Amino acid sequence: MKDSFNREIDYVRLSVTDRCDLRCTYCMPATGMRFLKKTEVLSFDNILFLLNRLAEQGIKKVKITGGEPLTRPDTVALIRAIKEISGIEKVTLTTNGIQLVNYAQALKAAGLDGLNVSIDTLDPDEFREITRVGDLKKVLAGLNKAVEVGLPNIKVNTVARGELTNEAICEIALLAKASKIHVRFIELMPIGLGKGCPGKTQEEVILALQQVYGELIPFEHRLGNGPASYFSLENFQGKIGFISALGHCFCAECDRIRITADGCLKTCLHMDDGCDLKEALQTENKEQLLAQVFTAIQKKPEKHHFLENQGDSRLMSQIGG
Ligand code: SAM
Ligand code: SF4
Repeated sequence: MKDSFNREIDYVRLSVTDRCDLRCTYCMPATGMRFLKKTEVLSFDNILFLLNRLAEQGIKKVKITGGEPLTRPDTVALIRAIKEISGIEKVTLTTNGIQLVNYAQALKAAGLDGLNVSIDTLDPDEFREITRVGDLKKVLAGLNKAVEVGLPNIKVNTVARGELTNEAICEIALLAKASKIHVRFIELMPIGLGKGCPGKTQEEVILALQQVYGELIPFEHRLGNGPASYFSLENFQGKIGFISALGHCFCAECDRIRITADGCLKTCLHMDDGCDLKEALQTENKEQLLAQVFTAIQKKPEKHHFLENQGDSRLMSQIGG
């Protein structure tokens, strides 16, 4: 599938739930969240019908996201089933890691091709403050388990919050030294509660790292499916990556669409665009589904407009990141 700017669309980010066991301050309010009813969330069968049809049209890569995907009881079974779909080459997962220790082995057995674990700080008190309820020990146990069972392509994602100190940046980067974990710093995006939150730029993070670990050497190859740019540090096994949608816009290479947990197709993270696929999925109406998908992809915007307008009114947990 190609959009009107000749970009090949072969990657779908699929949110399997809008629920989460954390409440990160830049992503979800402390209280008052109104979650989708079970009947509103795409079922196992809806998802498989959708991905089978998308794979027939050239989708090759699937990222499972949320909310927190590991709060959905059938997520591992879903991953196993998606791995069986002809044409799907890579299935990856992004998680907050809270329940990972219980699932790492099963995810490996299901054939997961890559795992992103979100960790914004290695200070347990600060972690609790950011996530409001999270226990960092559980996440680190999950990360260690993922390494131990041999899950491939493990990445740690850290949102570059304004409060992130240079010491904290260097401490998190160390995760990439001891084992082949890649650590990526994600620019804070003005979406949902992220609007108005202060963030650090890629250049500020690089400077902090360079002062302690020496020069960051650009790594020219692609790692995984995403838009990150990577750097090597001497004596580090993993790479240091940056995903900077504002400072280093990568829309020209955008290859993705998003599906929310209730079956809305979004062609841009920021835009209030797309369409509701739920009816076509529930009735398994292939013609209706593909007509909706093709029309939406033709309208995929050339780039986000973070700085010019308000964009989507949804929270990040309702989109999937
Ligand atoms: N719960 C899972 C997790 O935390 O990895 C998956 C969903 S979460 C919405 C996906 C990613 O989006 C996380 O790495 C999170 O830190 C990031 N995120 C949430 N709000 C953001 C924002 N405003 N700017 C940048 N990244 C954000
Ligand atoms: Fe939950 Fe992930 Fe949002 Fe944090 S960033 S509240 S873990 S969905």
